[in-house]
Amino acid sequence: MKIETVDFFYFAMPEVTTDADGSQDALIVRVSAGGHIGWGECEAAPLPSIAAFICPMSHGACRPVAASVLGQKLEGPDDIARISALVARDSMDLLQAPHTLSGIEMALWDLLGRRRDEPVWKMLGYKRSEPKIPYASLLFGNTPEETLERGRKARADGFGAAKFGWGPIGTGSVKADADQFAAAREGIGPDAHLMVDVGQIFGEDIDAASQRLAGLDAARVLWFEEPFFGSAYEAYAALAGMKSKVRLAGGEAAHNVAMARHLMDYGKVGHIQIDCGRIGGIGPSKIVADLAVERGITYVNHTFTTHLALSASLQAYAGIADDRICEYPAAPRPLALAVAENPILRDGNGEICAPERPGLGVDVDLPALKPYLVDAEIKVGNQTLYRTPRID
Ligand SMILES: [Mg+2]
Repeated sequence: MKIETVDFFYFAMPEVTTDADGSQDALIVRVSAGGHIGWGECEAAPLPSIAAFICPMSHGACRPVAASVLGQKLEGPDDIARISALVARDSMDLLQAPHTLSGIEMALWDLLGRRRDEPVWKMLGYKRSEPKIPYASLLFGNTPEETLERGRKARADGFGAAKFGWGPIGTGSVKADADQFAAAREGIGPDAHLMVDVGQIFGEDIDAASQRLAGLDAARVLWFEEPFFGSAYEAYAALAGMKSKVRLAGGEAAHNVAMARHLMDYGKVGHIQIDCGRIGGIGPSKIVADLAVERGITYVNHTFTTHLALSASLQAYAGIADDRICEYPAAPRPLALAVAENPILRDGNGEICAPERPGLGVDVDLPALKPYLVDAEIKVGNQTLYRTPRID
């Protein structure tokens, strides 16, 4: 087979707000080769990712992603790795390239799986898709009372794990943050897994972050996510060395395997969280999962959008039985829910598995997405380089 077409569908809610909610728009990728199709999703602002695919070559190390993808041979996983290496080399100065490639790479795995009639996790070498405990990914309320209510609701919805993120943490006093952590614990219940994500709020300020450890310990928080900038490895290591039961988590900002490896080896995180839609797709995610196993570090998926991205994010560690926890978009926007014809639902135990169906096991419902399709066109001179594909 040869890769014949790569189509980008840009979807958005009618209103996009400043909420730290990545499900407000989506960039879905459809790839075709040899009469088969595959689907993937990029996790970044859609238009720059489209632009990275079609932009005119700037110089030899700044070529559009399309130049390394279209017309390429696709027979097996080795071809996907070869194409990824080509993009890394020929688009090294095009900083959006890993994001654009991520969605394409997932679609290539999906296409191969559909053609071979086997799930992607099997092609990655796993024998079984192990059950995972999905955590409700929630934002802190503006007050501890709001946080308490959100925790109670997640528990009532059957979640045995919850992660609270962002909100006012790090912007007020240490006491105010400790009250928020305590409210989250009270809301979700004494026996549930509780995680806290502060979205890089402390930059590289180790002192400020360390002052929160006592409150996190008191609330029996499992992990403290992204206290610092994604590549502030020294700050991570300093905090990891302090006396606390809380383990550090990070990795969603990794745009390649080396960044994730550095966060483990130099940042000393206890949980490595990989966003398959940012790091370059499923192949690099699996490499990180293998490195994490070697190091005794827990792998966790990072995903906050659709069930297509959720499935892709699960593949890299689908067969690792000991890594139990997974992120699950608990309250995404309607457009994100409309993407999958067959969403990944929780079973009677409240757990989920990467699908048994071929490829990523998720069929994209294009007609349901039509109301969210953004009409876009990119022209250079008289040449139209991109136009939103039609949905009939
Ligand atoms: Mg996060």
